[in-house]
Amino acid sequence: MIINLKKFLLSDDLVYNVSDRLTLKDKKFLDENKLNKEIEFDGKFFKVEKSLLLEAKIDYFYSENCARCLQEFENKVTAKFNAIIVDELDEDYETEDMQILIKDSSIDLEESIKQLVYLSMPMKALCKSSCKGICSKCGINLNTDKCECNDFVIDPRLEKLKTLLK
Ligand SMILES: [Zn+2]
Ligand SMILES: [Zn+2]
Repeated sequence: MIINLKKFLLSDDLVYNVSDRLTLKDKKFLDENKLNKEIEFDGKFFKVEKSLLLEAKIDYFYSENCARCLQEFENKVTAKFNAIIVDELDEDYETEDMQILIKDSSIDLEESIKQLVYLSMPMKALCKSSCKGICSKCGINLNTDKCECNDFVIDPRLEKLKTLLK
């Protein structure tokens, strides 16, 4: 997950856009989170006076069980972050922005992205917002199947209406 900034730093450019597919290497982290190792990264580096800033967005994919129908599906999450690129980490640094260490004009995003995934992964997810879930009586998946459990429940007012129609 290394991005080389040498050319940008040596140039007179003030902004550098990076749009790339990065690969997370930490296999344990990937397995634990059922995460797809490919992360889509969209970042903008800015030179601001003597600082180097990063404004970025990532898209990542992981396997999740739907909170309603319990089926496994691939969920996509978008997370944004801002960072300051530093050549030495400042322990007292207090803002919401991350600090990313630069070494030999390169930055390694592995740790920052792991942290971001960890913070942004939702507790509950639905396979689709219209997911019908499972029947509370027979457990059938109502997205793909039908059951008759609820057909037996007839509103008494409707029952009366039926007799009127006869
Ligand atoms: Zn579902
Ligand atoms: Zn049912």
